[in-house]
Amino acid sequence: MHRSGAVMAWNVFKFCTALRGLGSIMILLVLGVVGVTYYAVVITNYWPALYEGGFDSFVALCVLALFHGLLGMLLWSYFSVVFTDPGSVPLSWRPAIDEERGESDPLSGSDYSGLQSDSTNPRVRYCRKCNQYKPPRCHHCSVCGRCILKMDHHCVWVVNCVGALNYKYFLLFLFYTFLETSIVTLSLLPHFIAFFSDGEIPGTPGTLATTFLAFVLNLAFALSVLGFLIMHISLVSANTTTIEVISCI
Ligand SMILES: [Zn+2]
Ligand SMILES: [Zn+2]
Repeated sequence: MHRSGAVMAWNVFKFCTALRGLGSIMILLVLGVVGVTYYAVVITNYWPALYEGGFDSFVALCVLALFHGLLGMLLWSYFSVVFTDPGSVPLSWRPAIDEERGESDPLSGSDYSGLQSDSTNPRVRYCRKCNQYKPPRCHHCSVCGRCILKMDHHCVWVVNCVGALNYKYFLLFLFYTFLETSIVTLSLLPHFIAFFSDGEIPGTPGTLATTFLAFVLNLAFALSVLGFLIMHISLVSANTTTIEVISCI
C-alpha cells in the first residue's frame, strides 16, 4: 500500500511539475472548470427542469440544493488552502539541547559550526538557503523559496505549499471536490447517455457541447481526486507526508 502510494505520488508530482509554470493562472483554470460545470448543471439542465412539475421538479430541487451546498464548501476549502500560510519556522526557533549526549547550546560554544553539517549531528538540520535551523519534518520548498513546517508538497492547483497549517483545508478540499464532482457526474449521466441515443436531443449545439465537456471533466476529476483522497487518508493514518514517502523511495 505504501509503495504503490509512493509511486502514484511520484507520478502526480511529475504531472504537477509540468503545470507549475502556469502559476496563478491555475486558480483561473479551477474557476473556469467550476464555471463550465455550473453552466451545464444549473443553467442548462436542472434550473429549467424545476418548472417541469411532478417528480422531475423534485429531483431537480434535490440536485440543485446538493450542488450549491457542496459548491459553497468546495470554494471555501479551496480558497482556505490558497490563502492560509502553510507554516514557516519561527525566527526564534532553536534546536532543543540534548543533555544526555552532552551537547551544548548550538548558538554558544565551539560546537556551533559543527552543528551546521548533517554528518556531524544528524539530529540537527540546517537550511543553507534560509540560513536557519530546520525543525523536525520541516522542508525547504524551492518554489516558495522558504522552509515550510511539516511540508507535504507544493500544490500547483492551489498555487501554495501544503504544510502544517493548511493541510486540514487541503484534505477538506479533496473531500468536497470528490463529492461535488461525483454528484455532477451522476446528474449529467442521463444527459450524456442521451447523446448516444437515436432520438432528438433538446438544446443548442453550445449547451450540448458544454454538457458533454462538463461530464467528461467532472468524471476525470472525480476519479483522480478519489485516488488522491485514498492516498492522503493512508498518509494521515500512517502519520507521514507525501514528501517523506517520496524521499524513502
Ligand atoms: Zn529553507
Ligand atoms: Zn511551496
